Amino acid sequence: MMRRVAIANQKGGVGKTTTAVNLATALAASGASTLLIDLDPQGNASTGVGIARDQRSPSSYELLTGTATLADASRPALVPGLSVVPAHEQLSGAEVELVEVPRRTERLKAVLADAVLPDWVLIDCPPSLGLLTLNALMAVDSVLIPLQAEYYALEGLTQLLQTIEQVRSRGNPRLALLGVLMTMVDRRNSLSGQVEADVRAALGSQVLRTVIPRNVRLSEAPSHGLPALLYDLRCPGSEAYLALAREIIGAPAARAA
Ligand code: ADP
Ligand code: MG
Repeated sequence: MMRRVAIANQKGGVGKTTTAVNLATALAASGASTLLIDLDPQGNASTGVGIARDQRSPSSYELLTGTATLADASRPALVPGLSVVPAHEQLSGAEVELVEVPRRTERLKAVLADAVLPDWVLIDCPPSLGLLTLNALMAVDSVLIPLQAEYYALEGLTQLLQTIEQVRSRGNPRLALLGVLMTMVDRRNSLSGQVEADVRAALGSQVLRTVIPRNVRLSEAPSHGLPALLYDLRCPGSEAYLALAREIIGAPAARAA
């Protein structure tokens, strides 16, 4: 079974990239072939899997502009079964460059439709609901929404869910919510615990069982160009992403949002 997942939230700093890098690694380590597409011009996911800035062409920019195929732009990375399409800073211009292009929100969808895909495709989205995130949402079958366990966690979620609904009605009717993932959870902190309880009360079974703890190893690993799983396999962050991989491998393909 092939699954394509956009990791999206228009808020920055909620754990999208950390989730993209570590979940991709965990899936590959579990034996599922996985492609990670970095769709954020900041390129943090590319850094997180150790792709140097001068090694990032061709990139997701060429995919969107139609000047490279997926086979051209993807390369093996770090662990067997993992491949990556990096992001180049040129991608920040794509929004403007594609304005005149017909079906500009379906560029990535067309690229994936023409390619041989692995078991899993994960797309790391930028912190906005602009053209790049729309391209991701049009190209996938499900969305994973990281929510940071902080006081304003649910703020902005309504807008994101509305965007998902619009994408459903404008060309991707089967787009499902894979789930909401609580990140940076600190169960010793009563506010964090209360936020998690509130989010579960509000969203019920849409919230994944696995939570990602606040763990300094997760934030240290990118400076070594490594996913946490390769930096410290036994840390709580790595264990949580392995548990997340097991949970979503077992999850039904489509779940109503
Ligand atoms: P986004 O992609 O949504 O902007 P990031 O994944 O880049 O978010 O995370 C924002 C910052 O928080 C980064 O510095 C990252 O290393 C750190 N971070 C993310 N998840 C955790 C976590 N569970 N524990 C500790 N630090 C984290
Ligand atoms: Mg990011």
